[in-house]
Amino acid sequence: MAVNHDGAMMVDSRFRRFFRSIVAAPECLLCAGAITSEHLICRGCQADLPRNEPACLCCAQSLSVAPSRICADCIEKPPPFDRAFAPFRYRGAVAQAVQSLKYNANFLTADWLGEAMIERIRLRAEPLPQIVIPVPLHRARLRERGFNQAQEIAKVVARGLQLPLEPNWARRTRSTIDQIGLNAVQRRRNLKGAFAIDGRVAGLHVALVDDVMTTGSTLTELARACRKAGAESIELWITARA
Ligand SMILES: [Zn+2]
Ligand SMILES: [Zn+2]
Repeated sequence: MAVNHDGAMMVDSRFRRFFRSIVAAPECLLCAGAITSEHLICRGCQADLPRNEPACLCCAQSLSVAPSRICADCIEKPPPFDRAFAPFRYRGAVAQAVQSLKYNANFLTADWLGEAMIERIRLRAEPLPQIVIPVPLHRARLRERGFNQAQEIAKVVARGLQLPLEPNWARRTRSTIDQIGLNAVQRRRNLKGAFAIDGRVAGLHVALVDDVMTTGSTLTELARACRKAGAESIELWITARA
């Protein structure tokens, strides 16, 4: 196990897989039922996953009518990113998995969530982004948690798609207060200028990775900062959309 300069654990997902294969009989990550070693979740859980379909191509918000591809919110007020993709909705077993990564440092969950994203992203015809940037945590939060869950997922996705991962190209310049209980205007004010972006994003097609997107205020502000730094095209890759 290596430790990076932020003190975050950098355990390789291939090592986790190997370790899991040599210890006791593998269990489904979501229900603890018996499974074969090459899978992370069982067939029952796979069938019950809260898939985010149909969803807005721009913001990944779930849509009730299949034929409409862009939601009314995005048409009325286009966000500073070009598209968003989230394979799951933030509920049930997926919400539990996301929390288990964040609060119990269950890194196998990052492998599973990352692989579920890769599976879907590989199906697309459009060109892939040129770089992957995880949503950063402030240094104080990173020290407290020991890892950045968005970075753990981004690592799996970037490796799987053979894209460069640039976790240091976006930094939180200050610690923001918890967004819970703030209205849209307060959220925007709370996050304004909270991100510093490396100038190397200029002219690039960028994917910003996070575990969950709820109101989207953090990702919107980060995308806005990337746009300001000259990013040509911005996609959001989120494992679960609330
Ligand atoms: Zn299961
Ligand atoms: Zn939308």
